[in-house]
Amino acid sequence: MSLRKIFRLRHTLAFRLTLWYWGIFTISSVVAFLVCYVLGTSGMSEHRDREFLRELTEFSSLLASKGMDDVKSAIVHETESGGVADIFMRVLSPKGDLLASSDTSSWGTIGISKAALERIRTGATHVFETSPIWGYRHEARILYGSIGDDKILQLGEMMADDERFKEVFGKIFGTTMAGLMVFAALIGWFMARWALRDIEEVTKTALQVSKGAFEQRVHVKAKEEEVQKLTATFNGMLDRIEALIAGMREMSDNIAHELRSPLARIRGVAEMTLSTGNSMNEYEEMAANTIEECDHLLKMINTMLDVSEAEAGASKLSFEQIDMASIVRDACELYQPSAEGKGVTIIPKISGSLPVYGDLHGLRRLVVNLLDNAVKYTPAGGTVTVSVQEHQGQVLISVDDTGVGISEDDLPHIFSRFYRCDRSRSQAGIGLGLSLAKAIARNHGGNMTVTSVLGQGSRFTVVLPRRPLSH
Ligand code: ADP
Repeated sequence: MSLRKIFRLRHTLAFRLTLWYWGIFTISSVVAFLVCYVLGTSGMSEHRDREFLRELTEFSSLLASKGMDDVKSAIVHETESGGVADIFMRVLSPKGDLLASSDTSSWGTIGISKAALERIRTGATHVFETSPIWGYRHEARILYGSIGDDKILQLGEMMADDERFKEVFGKIFGTTMAGLMVFAALIGWFMARWALRDIEEVTKTALQVSKGAFEQRVHVKAKEEEVQKLTATFNGMLDRIEALIAGMREMSDNIAHELRSPLARIRGVAEMTLSTGNSMNEYEEMAANTIEECDHLLKMINTMLDVSEAEAGASKLSFEQIDMASIVRDACELYQPSAEGKGVTIIPKISGSLPVYGDLHGLRRLVVNLLDNAVKYTPAGGTVTVSVQEHQGQVLISVDDTGVGISEDDLPHIFSRFYRCDRSRSQAGIGLGLSLAKAIARNHGGNMTVTSVLGQGSRFTVVLPRRPLSH
């Protein structure tokens, strides 16, 4: 691994997680060691103090029962068996005069604390002190305690054990901590890498997708909820992107296909007029023709954009509570004159009002498209029945006609963009009305279905949920 790569590692999540883990582990270990240390040292000094007090009681009893001579020989005996270099005992008068002493030759000068004697004179049974001994590196623990009969026992012990404990503890602490810190860093790094392995999988897939492999998906074995959620969301996003790209591709293919014929027609007419036409009338006819074709193209492009927006769910809808019954009623009234002119009867079966939560403009367009088709594809003498009703908390809009019907082969395709049944080619249209209507229904959380019998008629049914205003 190059130096730059190692340097860059500083900014990775794995490195930061490792650092956190390492830091917490190290601090916890230090705290644990400190607790052990405090417990160890305080345990040792408590034990020593208890022993001192036991000695004090024994010497008190000895003085009371056997007298000073026995105390003196006990002092010598006790210190020799304990080691005169480590322990000393002296008997003092309340003023600090030396009445008896063990062998203190290896102790140098041992002072007598006036403060301790004063406290004993004023009633304290014993006083503990920790003081340095001149010329020695260890401190000594010293007890002053009254053993009765105006006699004070001074008992001292070198704290060499404490120092040894500290030294050993320090060595153990140093070596163990160094090992633990290396161990914590390794474990932390391993755990961080393990936890982030699936994130890396997502990154790898994202990288492949960015290079154009939109069919790639993240496959992880992780059972952790967070990772599963992330991969599910990521894969869902890729599904949507793939669908959108496919939609865009299909749309651009459709555009190219659908634009070609009218443009070729415009060009053909213009070319012919230029080469043969010499009267003003012919030029005027060409201009009118061009305008008509351009209007057709504009309408087609605008509708196509509306369909794309609606299908992608990107339409600007303004949801409000609207009366579906009155929308359908108005549409029927709008188409009544043209239907009558064609000899088709529109029968509205609408009563009262049916509030739904939706986009007024979109739903109006949906109904108008269905009604327009029904009238367009129903020959003279036929009927178009339009009904709106409520069914199990949903609004059902159905448009029935007794028109030309749709063949079984055509039925699965009629909601596709630009699809027109062959028999309809004689009628004006661009094949986008139904795809737009269905996309609008879907945008409202509803759907549109069709049943038809060729030569007998068709029924288009729209289902819309009646969402409450608060949604
Ligand atoms: P357009 O009507 O502009 O051709 P649409 O998307 O509205 O486009 O309809 C697609 C095709 O479905 C139509 O070309 C027609 O063949 C068929 N169609 C739609 N509505 C009806 C109907 N009520 N009766 C028979 N055929 C229909």
